[in-house]
Amino acid sequence: MANQDRVYNFSAGPSMLPLEVLERAGAEITNYQGSGMSVMEMSHRSKAFQKIFDDTQAKFRSLLNIPNNYKILFMQGGASTQFSAIPLNLIGKTGKADYVVTGNFSNLSYKEAKRFGDIHLAANSEDKNHIYIPSQEQLDLSADASYLHYCANNTIYGTEWQYIPETNGVPICCDMSSDIMSRTIDVEKFGLIYAGAQKNLAPAGLTIAIIRDDLLGNELPSTPVMMNYKTIADKDSMYNTPPCWCIYILGLVCDWVESQGGVPAIEKIKGNKASMLYNTLDASSMFNCPTEKGSRSDMNVVFRTGNDELDAKFVSEATAAGLTTLKGHRNVGGMRASIYNSMPTEGVEKLCDFIRTFEKNN
Ligand SMILES: *Cc1c(COP(=O)(O)O)cnc(C)c1O
Repeated sequence: MANQDRVYNFSAGPSMLPLEVLERAGAEITNYQGSGMSVMEMSHRSKAFQKIFDDTQAKFRSLLNIPNNYKILFMQGGASTQFSAIPLNLIGKTGKADYVVTGNFSNLSYKEAKRFGDIHLAANSEDKNHIYIPSQEQLDLSADASYLHYCANNTIYGTEWQYIPETNGVPICCDMSSDIMSRTIDVEKFGLIYAGAQKNLAPAGLTIAIIRDDLLGNELPSTPVMMNYKTIADKDSMYNTPPCWCIYILGLVCDWVESQGGVPAIEKIKGNKASMLYNTLDASSMFNCPTEKGSRSDMNVVFRTGNDELDAKFVSEATAAGLTTLKGHRNVGGMRASIYNSMPTEGVEKLCDFIRTFEKNN
C-alpha cells in the first residue's frame, strides 16, 4: 500500500507516528547505518546500540530541558507499572501520599497506591463525571505526604491540567503519558515525571521516568528489582535488556520534533490544532463538548451529538472518509479525536470540514 493510502488516525494510543519517522525507520530496517543488521537484531551492549541509546537520551533531555540532577530512565511495563513503582519507591519517607483523581488512569494509580501506604484523596472530579480539573483551592493537600500524584492529561475524559499545583515542598509525581512533549514544562517543579511512550513519543513497550536524584534510594525493602528506580538509574537503564527498538524510534521522533522547531514550536502547532477543533465544535448546534472550558485537553477532544445513532453514523462515515478511530471510550461514549503531536494540522482541518459537512447533511 502506498503512503497516500494512509489514513488520519485519531487513535488515543498507540497512535500516529510522523511519516518521516516511519520512512526513516523503514529505510534503515534491514541494515542500520552500515552495521549489517537491524536495530531489532543488535545486542543492547553493542557500540552501535550504545550510541543510539546515548544520543536518544541526550536529545530527549535537551528537548524537554531536563536539568542534570534528574535521571532519565527507560523502562518497560507501561505507565501502569509505574502506578506500583511510585509508591514502592517514594512512600517510605512518611508512609503517606496525596492523590488527585481526575479520570480513569489517576483512579487506577490511586487504587494501586492504597496497597502500599496511607493514601489521601486530595480531590476527585467524579462528582461531575470528570469533566473538569480541580482548582488549587479545591485540593486538600497534606503537609506530611511523601508526594502528590496527579495525571496531567486525562486521555479518556479529555481534560488537561492548566497549572502545576503548589505543594509547599512536597514532591510532585505526574503521569504525562498523553501530553508529554506537547508543551514546555518546568521539570524542576516535579520530583518525578513518567509516561508510557505510545501516545506522543514512540511505539508501545517503552516507559520513561524522569526522576530527581534526591528521591532515589528510598524504596520499600520489598520493592521488586525491576521497579527499583535506584537500580535502574545506577545501571543507566541497562540492568536488563531495555526496549531497544522503541528507544531507537524515540530518537527519530526527537529528531523530528527538533526539525519542527523544538517543543515551543510543537506547542504552538498543537494549540492551533486544538482551538481549530474546539471552535468548530462550539460553533456547531449539532455537536457539543462535555468538558468544561478551562479544563479542556489539547490532546484528546471529546465530543458528541447526544444521539447514539447519529454518533455511530458520524464515526462510520468519517472512517469511510479516511478519518479513523474516532469512537469515544466506552466510559464516555460519543466521539474522541486524539490529536497528538504526530497528527498533521491537515488532518484536523479535514476533520473540521467533515464535522461541518456532516451537520449540514443531517
Ligand atoms: C495510556 C495511559 C496510561 C496507561 O498506559 P499503559 O502504558 O497502557 O500502562 C496511563 N496514563 C495515561 C494518562 C494514559 O494515557
